[in-house]
Formats: sequence, structure tokens, C-alpha cells
Amino acid sequence: MIFELPKLPYAYDALEPMISKRTLEFHHDKHHAAYVNNLNNLIKGTIFEKADLETIIKESEGGIFNNGAQVWNHTFYFEQFGKDKFDLLKNGAFSDAIYRDYGSLDIFKDKFSTAAKSLFGSGWTWLVKKPNGALEIIQTSNAANPLRDGLKPILTCDVWEHAYYIDYQNRRPDYIESFWKLIDWNIIAARY
Ligand code: MN
Repeated sequence: MIFELPKLPYAYDALEPMISKRTLEFHHDKHHAAYVNNLNNLIKGTIFEKADLETIIKESEGGIFNNGAQVWNHTFYFEQFGKDKFDLLKNGAFSDAIYRDYGSLDIFKDKFSTAAKSLFGSGWTWLVKKPNGALEIIQTSNAANPLRDGLKPILTCDVWEHAYYIDYQNRRPDYIESFWKLIDWNIIAARY
């Protein structure tokens, strides 16, 4: 199938000052777009020409995997942000799981932030739901995606430098602190 670049679900300046318009223009219009274009070119004439994205993530290797996973990862990342959603986590199954597995939302955020800060090189930090319902924080390198390991992604932080370098240069911890101010917990809870 031919993959298309999903539009951002908000205006380019909607996440300022935490993530600038200029970062989103590069991150979405250049990086995310390039992964979509590369994937469309790479799958031509292969067994993945008619496959959906999840199948590509679970079964492909090399450039097709890298670009396919990056298409999925970025769509998932951009969709989780909302304006003025600061720290709203309503009672429900996801909230129960956070308190059960971490004790509090703040403890969870600290542990996730530590994982995101300490991930070496380019990659993603994830909150995933395991088949038994338990939550787990994992780090993946480069394009890797937890779907491949039978885990359900709930939340992700892109820690490739292109996600924050324009706004924060080398200060990844500052980017991660701002990241929390943008999370729409209704979307995260619905994913769980
Ligand atoms: Mn990225």
C-alpha cells in the first residue's frame, strides 16, 4: 500500500514554548515525511508492497523495518500531545494500573524520565502494556518498536536529537521535563 504522512492533529505552534513551531516543522514535515517517502520507495516490488504498517514492523528487516517503524513511532508520538492538558489523569483502568505498578503518577514519571535521559544515542522510551496487563518502561534503540515483542505501546518519548536539538540543544533532560507538560492523559488512558 502507499503510505501517507498523517497531518499533525494540532497547529504547528500549539506546543510552544515546550516544543517550538520550528521543531515541529522539521520533525514532522522533514523527518517524519522522509520516513514515509523512504518506506514507499523501499517496499516497491517486495512482499511488503501490500502489507499494513503493523505487519511491516513485525516481519520486515533492514531499511524497510527502520523506515516503517519510524513512520509508526512518529505518528504515535505526535498524537499523544494536547494543549493545556497538564497533569490531568482521570480515575479509571489506566490510572489504577499506574498506581498499582508505580505507586503514583509522579513516581512513574520519574522512572520514565530517568530511562529517557539515560538512553544512549538515538531511540525511544516507551511505556508498554504486557500481555498480562502489567505496565513496563522500556528503552529501544534507533527505530525499534515494542509491537515486535508482543508489547502494546501506551506512551513514547522520542529521544533522537532531532526531536529537541533546535529548542534545547544538548539539554535532553530539559526536553523531557517539557514533554510531560504536553501529554494528553485522556489519549494515553484510552490506549491502555
Ligand atoms: Mn523523531
